Amino acid sequence: MPEMPEIQAHAERLTTEFGGRVLAKFTPFNFTALKTALPPPDSAYGESLRGVGRRGKYLLLDFGETTFVVHLMQGGRLLVDAKQSVKPRGGQARFTFEASERDDGSLNTDALLLTEQGSERRAGVWCVTSATMATSAPLDKLGPEAATITPAELAALFEANSMRVHGFLRDQRMVAGVGRRLANEVCHTAKISPFANTRKLGAPGAQKIVDALQQCIAEGLEYERTRGDMSASKDRPSAVHAQTGEPCPVCGDTIRAVSYSGYTVNYCATCQTDGKILADNTTSKFLK
Ligand SMILES: [Zn+2]
Repeated sequence: MPEMPEIQAHAERLTTEFGGRVLAKFTPFNFTALKTALPPPDSAYGESLRGVGRRGKYLLLDFGETTFVVHLMQGGRLLVDAKQSVKPRGGQARFTFEASERDDGSLNTDALLLTEQGSERRAGVWCVTSATMATSAPLDKLGPEAATITPAELAALFEANSMRVHGFLRDQRMVAGVGRRLANEVCHTAKISPFANTRKLGAPGAQKIVDALQQCIAEGLEYERTRGDMSASKDRPSAVHAQTGEPCPVCGDTIRAVSYSGYTVNYCATCQTDGKILADNTTSKFLK
């Protein structure tokens, strides 16, 4: 799933490519694509795209008083759509813009197409009032941004929410923008066990996690900004994520895995758990 660096770099590319274009039409291709009833999408027709922003893993298409909030989930993409076929493959929704003239004088009729691979149909669009979007669904439950949360804010959240730090980092209500890959990378960079308890980590642990968040996000952004499109998970440079069996780039120990139904926690025992091998089983008592 794309995380904060991928979404942020994509928002920047979309702003460059589509900023200033005037919305002509929003077309959902199935009944799950548009998650809201009010305001209606046509309230943004005739408005220019001020820019594409980001909150957590959501893209924010700013049309002034109205904003379209887009979540790509696992397999969603928001793509330049030159063809505009009647039934696009995997198509969820389309933003059609009024034709505009490019710098070279040619006519730009490109649309933006939200696609989703697979059959889950979880990607979607919320049409919201810009002035109140921070306090309305789906943004209202998000925690502080991962790139800018302070050590004191994180320490307070650690104290109030006793849980495993890997799960904490992936919970968007705690910190917004982190997914499975960044959670693995951040724990490794901070030299903290993915199963460490947040309350026990305290203020010193919060400081280490904040430092690691900033480092891992900066590295991810630097890589993602070199690209012309959004990377796939396997493309992203990772020290431990999806590196099971490979040597740790810090100490050379073998990267290990604890697998769950939907994801895998990767870690280096030497760097993160004082050499302790964590049982590959969610019910084990030896996960601390
Ligand atoms: Zn290591």
